[in-house]
Amino acid sequence: MNIIGYITDIFKGVISLLKGMKVTGSYFFRPWTVVTQKYPENRKKLEMYERMKGEIVMPHNAKNEHKCTGCGICELNCPNGSIEIITFQLVSEDGKKKRAIDKHIYRIGMCTFCGLCVKTCPSKALSFAPNFEHAVFSRERLTKILNKEGSVLEKGVEG
Ligand code: SF4
Ligand code: SF4
Repeated sequence: MNIIGYITDIFKGVISLLKGMKVTGSYFFRPWTVVTQKYPENRKKLEMYERMKGEIVMPHNAKNEHKCTGCGICELNCPNGSIEIITFQLVSEDGKKKRAIDKHIYRIGMCTFCGLCVKTCPSKALSFAPNFEHAVFSRERLTKILNKEGSVLEKGVEG
């Protein structure tokens, strides 16, 4: 590197540093603008943000219904095996068989929150929730069944 390139790099570095300090300094002189929260003291009024990737959930409507079809795509796409799909065959009144979800098992202890399962689910059955307090005393409690129990299990035939 020649001397001009060396001096240019130093100059760029100083500019970059000043830009960062300008942002920090602007908050320093605006103490009424809260950018950090005192946790856990403020646990009751803690503000979490919609985009926070705290855990994978399967939203259910008021009738306890969800959109998961048991296709298994999220299980295939999960890079570290955090998801296991167990299905069964649902037999309709006219005798037609259809695959349905028995258990959507999610192991949050292994999840890296990459979001591939949410992005690739064709039914948009999964989403992120902003919950982040996952500390438990037993590892088993980090394994969750995302579809609510007792949904359509009784009507089906093991498959
Ligand atoms: S959550 Fe989505 S991708 Fe996963 S099994 Fe259900 S429908 Fe398929
Ligand atoms: S967020 Fe990523 S690691 Fe976690 S369950 Fe979904 S695909 Fe797997």
